[in-house]
Amino acid sequence: MLCKPKMSGRELDFIKPALAEDWAVPMGPDVNEFERELERLTGCADKRVVALSSGTAALHLALIACGVGPGDEVIVQSMTFCASTNPVAYLGAIPVFVDSERETWNMDPDLLEEAIKDRMAKTGRKPKAIIPVALYGMPYQIERIMEIADRYGIPVIEDAAEGFCSRYDGKLLGTFGRFGALSFNGNKMITTSGGGALICPDEATAQKIKWYATQARESYPYYQHEAVGYNYRLSNISACIGRAQLTVLDEHLEHHKRMQRLYCELLNGVEGFTMHSAPTLLPPHGGYDSNYWLCTAIIDPEARVKGEDEAYSSVISGAVGGAAGVTHTAASATTDCQPNNNVEAMRVWLDKANIEARPLWKPMHRQPVFRNSPAIINGVSEQLFHTGICLPAGPYVTDDDVRYIVDCIKAGFC
Ligand SMILES: *Cc1c(COP(=O)(O)O)cnc(C)c1O
Repeated sequence: MLCKPKMSGRELDFIKPALAEDWAVPMGPDVNEFERELERLTGCADKRVVALSSGTAALHLALIACGVGPGDEVIVQSMTFCASTNPVAYLGAIPVFVDSERETWNMDPDLLEEAIKDRMAKTGRKPKAIIPVALYGMPYQIERIMEIADRYGIPVIEDAAEGFCSRYDGKLLGTFGRFGALSFNGNKMITTSGGGALICPDEATAQKIKWYATQARESYPYYQHEAVGYNYRLSNISACIGRAQLTVLDEHLEHHKRMQRLYCELLNGVEGFTMHSAPTLLPPHGGYDSNYWLCTAIIDPEARVKGEDEAYSSVISGAVGGAAGVTHTAASATTDCQPNNNVEAMRVWLDKANIEARPLWKPMHRQPVFRNSPAIINGVSEQLFHTGICLPAGPYVTDDDVRYIVDCIKAGFC
């Protein structure tokens, strides 16, 4: 249902002057402005932001800047979208997956420390970086994660792609670790149509990231290359869209939080269906301030949902999210790790009512492509995947839509 980005109505006000001045290139004035605006949002005097072509590119360059290379190990939250992990594989490095805790569904700090010790004992080397992920916008336990990372001297790369403008103790996600990756893909909190950014600790590091992002050109009158670079800068036209989107950022954030409040209110007391909400922290902490990019819930394994006996009876034709029209036909209707039948039945039930609900992200340690990676596991992420569901909360979803969705959910239980 209505799963597309919402424009601010001001995009052309930024794009037209840029086109009139022939700024349809990367590194135009709007890229600079967009970066300065994002820097102001971080609320940090020293941090510098580099606008890039995607959140995936931001993570890739952050890993390079942390010195990650072939054979190195990088600790990654298992419960995430593949883009958190793929850049580790691009570099020939090995992801080490760490499971989640139940409060935020993000990286479990106790398991993180266990993973560091385990890898040091088995390989004699420390992992090169740690990537916690703000799943669905929810802040991770960053205070504990930073304490552990600092104690072992391992840099943290925050994957705040889904958590743009989420906060922990009032501080913006992406500003705690050495790096913070943001995404402005079409489905994220704000969009540049496709794009991302990397929050860097200082000017010198930002310069290095920009250098890598523009094919690593040395300062000579001719093209001289002493490292392998990338074509990862954001185009000026995309930055124009981003600048326009920032003018409605607060409205977007307010919308997503409102969707969450409404779902919680209307689903309160519905047996077998539990919304996932931010944990409450006691003072002096300001607590977990999620942007609620996606609203998520758990369906009790015991709950009976209409049609669950026919769940997974046929191969579906399209990949999740439409995958931009790309279909890669599945070999079978089921895999050895999938959502419970009642979750799939609820997805199908809502789909028939024209509501697009989705399963949660499938943990990386259960993805065939990463089957050989080490994993420090407590069962939480797999249980979340078996029982969880994402509900529509995009910018075009109205209060009435939420009421309709909730009525359909209630009607879906036997
Ligand atoms: C979207 C996303 C990314 C990557 O962002 P792109 O801009 O799409 O490359 C990285 N990590 C997570 C968790 C994401 O959801």
